[in-house]
Amino acid sequence: MMRGMCIARWIAVLFLFALPAASEPLGYKGAVGDDGGLGEEVALTDTDVHVSDVMLAIFYHELGHALIDVMQLPVLGLEEDAADVLSVVMIDRLWDAESSEAKVASAAYFWAASAAASAAASAETGEAPAFWGVHSPDERRFFTYICLYYGGAPDERAVLAEEFGLPADRAATCPDEFDLAQGSWGLFLDELEAAGAGESLVWLGDAEPEDVVARAIMEEVAYLNSILTLPEEVGVQVAACDEANAFYDPAEQTITMCREMADYILEVAPIEP
Ligand SMILES: [Zn+2]
Repeated sequence: MMRGMCIARWIAVLFLFALPAASEPLGYKGAVGDDGGLGEEVALTDTDVHVSDVMLAIFYHELGHALIDVMQLPVLGLEEDAADVLSVVMIDRLWDAESSEAKVASAAYFWAASAAASAAASAETGEAPAFWGVHSPDERRFFTYICLYYGGAPDERAVLAEEFGLPADRAATCPDEFDLAQGSWGLFLDELEAAGAGESLVWLGDAEPEDVVARAIMEEVAYLNSILTLPEEVGVQVAACDEANAFYDPAEQTITMCREMADYILEVAPIEP
């Protein structure tokens, strides 16, 4: 079940050579055009694609929390890590080679850029990094995406792994790590797909969202509904929430992708050439 991008390929090369070192200032870019219209004739910029791809990777992560809840899945390890693992499995499973590589490159770039921004903030405030946090540190999330994705097809993805700096010591175990991830999440994804198409993911936003990210998430909801059905309905929305975040609320059974998260991804995005 592979899909390709209908828009120009994201300039992966930009990422491959633009990974920021921890102390380097990050490229800042203003808002993406005026977003006016977004009709078919409006071409998405590379930055639009980048932000949407990172949000999609994070959406798959939140979907992991939702599946753990509504399928009552056992979680043998940290739930946040399990959700990241699902994100990579979904990208590998649903998208063709070129699109999946671009999405993993965007996600990895984001985690590297976010790590650099956090390190710069820590250096300024003197506060230690939040190793106590519920998520693995961004640097580790970066390698989770690169390692697992590489492990899914080592021959085809060796160049990406090398250019993103995956050390040989870790690369050696990535194929087995991917097999375990695929075998674990794959069982449950097979179950959802066996249930066929449905309406279990419920888009709570506008029917014709004007912003690029909301439209990308809405389209993903429609696509997922066309191939699988969850045992219970899960709402999905892109909304303002006063923080750069995304979360699954088990009480409401709703995934919220915060607009501020997209803003933050844009803030630390590479500058277009
Ligand atoms: Zn999470």
